[in-house]
Amino acid sequence: MTYPQRMLVENLAWSDEISIRDPAYFQRLASNQRPNVLWIGCSDSRVPEAVTRAMPGEIFVHRNIANLVGEHDDSLASVLEYAIVVLRVQHIVVCGHHCCGGVQAALRPPAAALPNVNRRIDPIRRLAALHAAELRLLQGFGERADRLAELNVLAQVQALHAMPLVQSAQPHVQIHGWIFSMHDGRLKALAHPEWALNETADAHEAAG
Ligand SMILES: [Zn+2]
Repeated sequence: MTYPQRMLVENLAWSDEISIRDPAYFQRLASNQRPNVLWIGCSDSRVPEAVTRAMPGEIFVHRNIANLVGEHDDSLASVLEYAIVVLRVQHIVVCGHHCCGGVQAALRPPAAALPNVNRRIDPIRRLAALHAAELRLLQGFGERADRLAELNVLAQVQALHAMPLVQSAQPHVQIHGWIFSMHDGRLKALAHPEWALNETADAHEAAG
């Protein structure tokens, strides 16, 4: 069985299980979507919004390489517009992750076979140059890339704060910056609406 065939079979089992547990579930799902959160994450297969146990209907999603909020990204702009104007989400989560291939690539020479990826991650190269002094102090490539992934999340949070659409959103939209650790599966808050930008804090502190 190919993986897509298995996906279809698993889908049958999934939909049956939910229908048995909650016969009206799909009727409700079809009637409307009222997500509270827009998730801007990386396309990496290991970091779906499902790491928060979100169910269908709960999170509106945009994912791209290295969770970037591109100034001229039509796809992101349309998702953002719909999320704010129509769905009226109250929160935007930018979620990056450690061991991010897109961020790691930004610390290496451009790969000739990946012109589109190179173009996309160019802002991360500029970010790495901006924080070169801090990154140089870190020992290994992995540590540098992981710190750059965190700085990248903070940069995207700042980019969102600067957008007129976000600034004029009614109701006010709160922006969160999170990083996912591959090593323990935990999300850590890097930027919270109530904290000053660039200030880091632990998710446990935020919860307390
Ligand atoms: Zn990634």
